[in-house]
Amino acid sequence: MSHPVIHKSAKLANVCYDIRGPVLEKARQMEEDGHKIIKLNIGNLAVFGLEPPDEIVQDMIRNLPQAAGYTDSKGLFAPRKAIVHYTQQKGIAGVTVDDVYLGNGASELITMSMNALLNAGDEILVPAPDYPLWTASVSLSGGTPVHYLCDESNGWIPDLDDMARKITPRTKGIVVINPNNPTGALYPVEVLQAIVALARKHGLIIFADEIYDKVLYDGHVHTSIASLADDILFVTFNGLSKNYRSCGYRAGWMIVSGDKRRAQDYIEGLNMLASMRLCANTPGQLAIQTALGGYQSINDLVAPGGRLCRQRDLAHRLLTEIPGVTCVKPKAALYMFPRLDPKVYPIEDDQQFAYDLLAEEKVLIVQGTGFNYPTPDHFRLVFLPHEDDLTEAIGRIARFLGHLRRR
Ligand code: PLP
Repeated sequence: MSHPVIHKSAKLANVCYDIRGPVLEKARQMEEDGHKIIKLNIGNLAVFGLEPPDEIVQDMIRNLPQAAGYTDSKGLFAPRKAIVHYTQQKGIAGVTVDDVYLGNGASELITMSMNALLNAGDEILVPAPDYPLWTASVSLSGGTPVHYLCDESNGWIPDLDDMARKITPRTKGIVVINPNNPTGALYPVEVLQAIVALARKHGLIIFADEIYDKVLYDGHVHTSIASLADDILFVTFNGLSKNYRSCGYRAGWMIVSGDKRRAQDYIEGLNMLASMRLCANTPGQLAIQTALGGYQSINDLVAPGGRLCRQRDLAHRLLTEIPGVTCVKPKAALYMFPRLDPKVYPIEDDQQFAYDLLAEEKVLIVQGTGFNYPTPDHFRLVFLPHEDDLTEAIGRIARFLGHLRRR
């Protein structure tokens, strides 16, 4: 007897996560066939020799024998208390241990924050380009992602007029990714204040993804948007993955702050979802207090002459030397989002572009439309490899683009 084909759920119809999509699959096959690929596609620091602070690793090893049990659904008290202290340093007022949720990375909590909130037809404003988990989580939760543009000609700062225009009676919240993946932008305080004013006017929640808040170049300082008001609701996300180079420990957190009184029902929903997944992995939770209170070695990497700063400068210089390529220099994070002038490179399908670059030059990038950017004329490059690998990779990109120009 033959049974019907097994389909994925209709909920996944509009869900897309191209950072680990079909082009990566092709790269995997090529590696199996023995090809060596230079990977500029994922912000996974430790695999590039950017290892976590040793004190975190040693602490986890020491604590592992006591970490086999479940914890409270929101997480252990000590790391949550350390996060409360961190909110005080960042000027976010009125946060108690009860307002802090630990998760298996920020990713789990991002999805949870959307699942607890959205009904069919509810809208969330998400940046374009975005970190695509946001768009995917809104869709998976039954909501509708509505993209506001970030303005490349203005250093990839959100276009506030576009944001305002896209607010409707169904809008529930605004996602602000600052520092930004994929553009490397860091938003000025006045822009954050303007977003707060919009949220206040329309009664919207601000979802602040601040996972790169310590990866700052050229002496820049980060302002948490939740520090700017206490009369609207903020949900702020952070974690150890990037600032402490420990993506694999899956240690993230979420902080609810501001006008919590209006949000009691939503908070009940968050608590229910936190309970249903029992708790975040306990070893990851145990790393948080040590990380936040320890030596902040990320500062050495981003300082002038530090490894990440040098790699950013090199990648930016080499990319912008290629004819028809322009790129806003990142102020923060681990990525750049260069533009390929459509008059020079008339690309219609940027996934095909990424695929062809991989096949011809064995360099893996992610196409711009994978970040919900509306036109196929950008790609994201991760500047984590060592300088010699970056030079080689961008040299290959330049050669590939040279062939495209002559075609
Ligand atoms: N938010 C942004 C903007 C990211 O770039 C990433 C990972 O790349 C995440 C969230 C997810 O982080 P985590 O490892 O804590 O799940």
